[in-house]
Amino acid sequence: MSNKPIDCEQALSILYDYLDRELGEHDHEAMEHHLSVCKSCFSRAEFEQRLKEKMKSLREAQPAADSNDRIKQLLKDL
Ligand SMILES: [Zn+2]
Repeated sequence: MSNKPIDCEQALSILYDYLDRELGEHDHEAMEHHLSVCKSCFSRAEFEQRLKEKMKSLREAQPAADSNDRIKQLLKDL
């Protein structure tokens, strides 16, 4: 196992796993380190995190049965 810092490309490729807390301890630490030194990935991670929470609260706010129809409706309105 190396402790080489990861670059932005690597950081973005594991961003979603990081947000889902699915990374191994080593990758998780590498990611946190990268976010602490890289403003652009940090903003990106923050944005994705907010988006994730929004999607989650949207799903929870609606009964599962009609959420598909609502999403279709939303897409149509776009
Ligand atoms: Zn970066």
